[in-house]
Amino acid sequence: MLSSNTFKFDVLLIGGGGAGLRAAIAIAETNPNFSVAVVSKVYPMRSHTVAAEGGAAAVIKENDSFDDHCMDTIAGGDWMSDQDAVELFVNEAPKELTQMEHWGCPWSREPDGKVAVRPFGGMSIERTWFAADKTGFHMLHTLFQTSLKYNNITRFDEWFTTKILVENGRCQGATAIELRSGKVGVIAAKAVIMCTGGAGRVFPFTTNGNIKTGDGMAMAYRAGVPLKDMEFIQYHPTGLPGTGILITEATRGEGGILVNKDNYRYLQDYDLGKPLDIDDPMHPVKKSMELGPRDRLSQAFVAEREKGRTVPGPYGHVVHLDIRHLGKKIIDKKLPFVRELARNYAGIDPVYELIPVLPVVHYMMGGIDTDKDGATSLPGLFAAGECACVSINGANRLGSNSLTEILVFGACAGKAAATYATEHPDLDIAAVEKKCTDEQERIAREFIRKTGGKERIAALRNELKDTLESGAGIYRTEVSLKETCDKIDELRERFGNVLIEDSSLTFNTELTSALELDFMLDVAEAIANSALARTESRGSHQRTDFPERNDGKFLKHSLAYHTDDKPRINYKDVVITKWPPGERVYGKEE
Ligand SMILES: Cc1cc2nc3c(=O)[nH]c(=O)nc-3n(C[C@H](O)[C@H](O)[C@H](O)COP(=O)(O)OP(=O)(O)OC[C@H]3O[C@@H](n4cnc5c(N)ncnc54)[C@H](O)[C@@H]3O)c2cc1C
Repeated sequence: MLSSNTFKFDVLLIGGGGAGLRAAIAIAETNPNFSVAVVSKVYPMRSHTVAAEGGAAAVIKENDSFDDHCMDTIAGGDWMSDQDAVELFVNEAPKELTQMEHWGCPWSREPDGKVAVRPFGGMSIERTWFAADKTGFHMLHTLFQTSLKYNNITRFDEWFTTKILVENGRCQGATAIELRSGKVGVIAAKAVIMCTGGAGRVFPFTTNGNIKTGDGMAMAYRAGVPLKDMEFIQYHPTGLPGTGILITEATRGEGGILVNKDNYRYLQDYDLGKPLDIDDPMHPVKKSMELGPRDRLSQAFVAEREKGRTVPGPYGHVVHLDIRHLGKKIIDKKLPFVRELARNYAGIDPVYELIPVLPVVHYMMGGIDTDKDGATSLPGLFAAGECACVSINGANRLGSNSLTEILVFGACAGKAAATYATEHPDLDIAAVEKKCTDEQERIAREFIRKTGGKERIAALRNELKDTLESGAGIYRTEVSLKETCDKIDELRERFGNVLIEDSSLTFNTELTSALELDFMLDVAEAIANSALARTESRGSHQRTDFPERNDGKFLKHSLAYHTDDKPRINYKDVVITKWPPGERVYGKEE
């Protein structure tokens, strides 16, 4: 007999963004009799996927090939990508994007009616499908509306998951707070898929929405699942100062250039991988050094700043992105959102003026360790999307691979979870209800009923962000990382004395902020400790004290395990199928 706060499903999705909704549809299609729950702490259309602008990668042109997409992804990731996962990804990508078309996604078109593709950083040929510069918005709409077709999908909108429930060594559901009422419920399920997105909010300056606090990563970590490759944090080279709002890479894909304070196209002075052979400077891919990989471009910005060649501003130093030469017509057709954002948030019109930009934390390459099916080391728990690490992105993700990743691996995880649920039909409801009661008691004791705390959430959160930026930013050293690790330990300690003034049950945002900070502290310790242990430089992880890539020792994924003390860091081999580690290249010579 279920209590009124107990819900029972075949599969539970935690997260209603692109990965969660794609997985839900895959399950609903696999078995129309399956019951599927989608829990989301915000209304699904507010998930971060909606903010994606530039596009989604998949081979479509006749002169492109699966091998080229694989090679770009692997070289872009500095050989940290698991190549079996990359091959699966690249093969499934065109099918998934075509499927999106059939579900109603309005891909932008060429005049002859073919799907249009644009160049993107690190991609040797144009293969990024887009819907103007609101691709994520259109994709999430498409997925959301498609999910409404299935009566067997039940949504728990504005429910905040706090813990996954493990019984008999198997994940059997999760506890979640209904934010409107404060009611804590148990959502029991035969299989659970974590689709909670990234954790960019652990840094002070980020493109990531406020909700990206790494909740799912921390929940899996606490349940004993390792977090993989957490040291790899992507800085996107073009964020708007002050807000962190992203100026999409599509801006450079369409021909935008980066200039320093002397109006000089400084990237020509840097090694961005193997340089392009620019015999035809007007070739759309070849001409653009701005389409080097994001890690290299962000590192070049730091070097320019150190040489005194950036422009000081109220929010730190910037360089300029120039798209004036594209003209109003192209900007309004292909980059309307960029113009809107620049006007509204930087007070400049890019048709006539330069856009100030600087590197901004954008994406987590690392996440919950999964195999190609999204399965984790905890039976019954799967993960997909940005919270997971399959890993196709290695040490540096290529722009436009992620929107495709959430579709490909959302669908894989959905199918695998459906199979698992079929094979494991029994649930121990009484045991998970007991665990839920314990969790409810913990939340009341540590937060809602707590009195006398002294530490303010906002202050702790700001200190956490600042220490990650200063110690684990674009460049790191042993000294900076040790300081950050120690600071995180101190903040964890002080968090035990957190001040909670709101004991109400209805939309208690102070409680959710506290729970999010709790998750962020776990994610932060995994990032900093994994970065400290990796004594080499690779992709987005640049150690000035160990500037070389060291394949002999570190062609391995790091795995951070939760302990009562510092995380334990282990390693496992990267899967190499047919592309042995080599020099990083970008741009294809024709
Ligand atoms: C500004 C921006 C632009 C981008 N542009 C591109 C692009 O052009 N191309 C590209 O390939 N990639 C792009 N990316 C990256 C890409 O959009 C994301 O990696 C991807 O959309 C993540 O999807 P997701 O489904 O994994 O997570 P999200 O879309 O972030 O969804 C996470 C879901 O988890 C839920 N959730 C989280 N915690 C909890 C909890 N505790 N309880 C309940 N629910 C919870 C949230 O409510 C949400 O529904 C961009 C990212 C940003 C920030």
